Amino acid sequence: MQTYDFIVIGSGSAGSVVAERLSASGRFSVLVLEAGGTDRRFYVQMPLGYGKTFFDSAVNWNYTAEPDPGLAGNADHWPRGKILGGSSSINAMVWIRGAREDYDDWRDAGNPGWGFDDVLPAFKAIEDNQGGADDWRGTGGPVHVTDMSPAVHPLTHLYLKAGQQAGLPLNPDFNGASQEGVGIYQISTRDGRRMSAARAFLRPAMKRANVRVETNALATRILFEGARAVGVEYERNGHKETVRAGREVVVSAGSINTPQLLQLSGVGPARLLQSLGIPVVRDNANVGANLQDHVGINYTYRAKVPTLNQILRPWWGKLRVGMQYLLARSGPLSLSINNGGGFFRTDPSRARPNMQLYFQAFSTVIPKPGERPILAPDPWPGFSIGLSNARPSSRGEIMIRSADPREHPRIVANAYSTNADLDEMLDAVKFVRKIAAQPAIAGIIEAEVLPGPSVQSDADLIDDFRRRSGTVYHPVSTCRMGPDPASSVVDARLRVHELQNLRVIDASIFPGNITGNTNAPSIMTGWKGGEMVVEDQR
Ligand SMILES: Cc1cc2nc3c(=O)[nH]c(=O)nc-3n(C[C@H](O)[C@H](O)[C@H](O)COP(=O)(O)OP(=O)(O)OC[C@H]3O[C@@H](n4cnc5c(N)ncnc54)[C@H](O)[C@@H]3O)c2cc1C
Repeated sequence: MQTYDFIVIGSGSAGSVVAERLSASGRFSVLVLEAGGTDRRFYVQMPLGYGKTFFDSAVNWNYTAEPDPGLAGNADHWPRGKILGGSSSINAMVWIRGAREDYDDWRDAGNPGWGFDDVLPAFKAIEDNQGGADDWRGTGGPVHVTDMSPAVHPLTHLYLKAGQQAGLPLNPDFNGASQEGVGIYQISTRDGRRMSAARAFLRPAMKRANVRVETNALATRILFEGARAVGVEYERNGHKETVRAGREVVVSAGSINTPQLLQLSGVGPARLLQSLGIPVVRDNANVGANLQDHVGINYTYRAKVPTLNQILRPWWGKLRVGMQYLLARSGPLSLSINNGGGFFRTDPSRARPNMQLYFQAFSTVIPKPGERPILAPDPWPGFSIGLSNARPSSRGEIMIRSADPREHPRIVANAYSTNADLDEMLDAVKFVRKIAAQPAIAGIIEAEVLPGPSVQSDADLIDDFRRRSGTVYHPVSTCRMGPDPASSVVDARLRVHELQNLRVIDASIFPGNITGNTNAPSIMTGWKGGEMVVEDQR
């Protein structure tokens, strides 16, 4: 049986970085097992191509959550990258670190080394920010971060003005001194191409002689000798293989697959595992529990002026932006659809923002089956102001249904299952309407299309957002970090409690969700986690 010093399961946002960090010195051999295939695909590289990958089972796990009473019984679509780069190869590329207080809360929950001042150097080292280095930004790192300001659709500037008229400051850098306000997003791209974790970290690491990456390799079980992880069993091309880890197994399979794999391997809630005939290696009720996610909704408007719809929908418009992209790697196809954004407080008595905004100069009220119809928007001029909650109190779980590693686990989101989450979303959608009513933007609005002017009472607004909300793809905390095995899965050095030679390094370890999108924090987790593994080697 082949032996590597380290086996990393999953090549996503965190796993790609872990593989790079572990292999940098040349001292250790590293095997990466990735269930998906290559990221050398046009719609993965082209930023707006993520509309195509949204449902594409060639690159996406395409999960469906359980019907959720909080979402009017809807069974939500949960895309996750199944490809080199993981979800960073199919995401919307918005680059947000989260707020200082998010990380200080992580540290104060008993996790030394994870406060904002501890993680800031990692964020800076990761970045090659187009805006240059300052107290917060970094340059010269592997992830190029692009400022979309010169290229956003002109309507974005009306949104920014309207946001200020509604009382928010203009914020030039959501990753800078403060998050609050409206502004233009930074995105992870370079020269009009997606800057996934695979492009930034894994592909450079793959050039090293001590790194081997197996694609289409589904890890099915972690192998233990007593309490010590010693290897991994995986399936590739219909064959079962086993491989040994001389030093450690690192699970970086993401917030859904990491708890699934631990449970399949006998690490999880004992009663569930026993009921499925899985021998229990370590009973820990937190594996798969404590699921936190962001939920969001769009308010959509019909405009009196042309929007991106008039560019992306007609054949000649598609031809124009297609040529612009192919010849100059510029134009709308080279950007995230979320041009503008923001962070606000639903109640001034709050110490910091609890809601995130997205401005999209396009609309897709009329759905197209099997596609996120970014490349086929509505036939009329439309735009959307979207929002999502930042630190909801609702909790869900990810639990396996069977001992079959190919069967998708049960995803129970429990969205809007607390009064606090309902109340803040009600206040938040009213604030979106307040932005749309400001002089800077009201004059170009012909009508509110969704939810529409008839939806006015609190009961109707709640009913509407329950029916139309969905995940914004930021599940975290299903193997959360903490000092106590009774309430967490890994310690502050990301070692699985009460087991040896086994770590989890991905978004599942977040003790709580961050205020913003989760790719940059997952990459940071990969960076810090990878460095910790190296530091802990003799
Ligand atoms: C559609 C979408 C849009 C998003 N938009 C944004 C955005 O604009 N900005 C932002 O910051 N965040 C965004 N996110 C979220 C962000 O991309 C994720 O939070 C982040 O990528 C998670 O990183 P991870 O390392 O935890 O997991 P992932 O990146 O999902 O990596 C897990 C990897 O493990 C592999 N794997 C899983 N199980 C196994 C197994 N058993 N064997 C082998 N390999 C396995 C998977 O195939 C995958 O490659 C978005 C996500 C999605 C899905």
